[in-house]
Amino acid sequence: MKSVLLHACCAHCAAYTINHWREQGYNISAFWYNPNIHPYTEHEQRLEAMKALTNQSKMPLIVSEGYEIIDYFRQVVGHEDQRCRHCFRMRLSRTARVALERHFDAFTTTLLISPHQKHDLIREIGAAIAGETGVEFLYADLRKRYSDSRHLTKPLDLYRQQYCGCVYSEWERYTNTKIE
Ligand code: SF4
Repeated sequence: MKSVLLHACCAHCAAYTINHWREQGYNISAFWYNPNIHPYTEHEQRLEAMKALTNQSKMPLIVSEGYEIIDYFRQVVGHEDQRCRHCFRMRLSRTARVALERHFDAFTTTLLISPHQKHDLIREIGAAIAGETGVEFLYADLRKRYSDSRHLTKPLDLYRQQYCGCVYSEWERYTNTKIE
């Protein structure tokens, strides 16, 4: 059975994604690395929800040490209109690196279930990182199952976020602003 390291952005996107890849016959472990989630207390709330989900799903969860918010801003400041590209690359590169170090056969991400994310960009960056690292990137378009995933987590009563993650997305969410 192939082992897969699943980058998890949040419990609500992870729930169906875990089931999907398990049904395809993969042995899944989750990986938490999200320095794009601001502020820190929000990051911790989402991580606690992820821990509750993985306990309930009896699935290993690897949590990256630290909170690399400074690295995130060093990548993004001055390129705010391109911030998602830097954000995806940062998170997926780390996932692939950990997958390589820990001898996983492949990596993927829960971001592929969200209709709110730049799906084609995630696919492009995942494939590029696979080429650079030699670790396979598992791709599936799961966007039609986004609401199913939220139904799965509803009975667990987990913390549910109101914006993507970064301070820019929070500002956009509450003011109808669009950063260009
Ligand atoms: S909007 Fe979301 S994906 Fe884009 S940079 Fe912010 S946290 Fe990352």
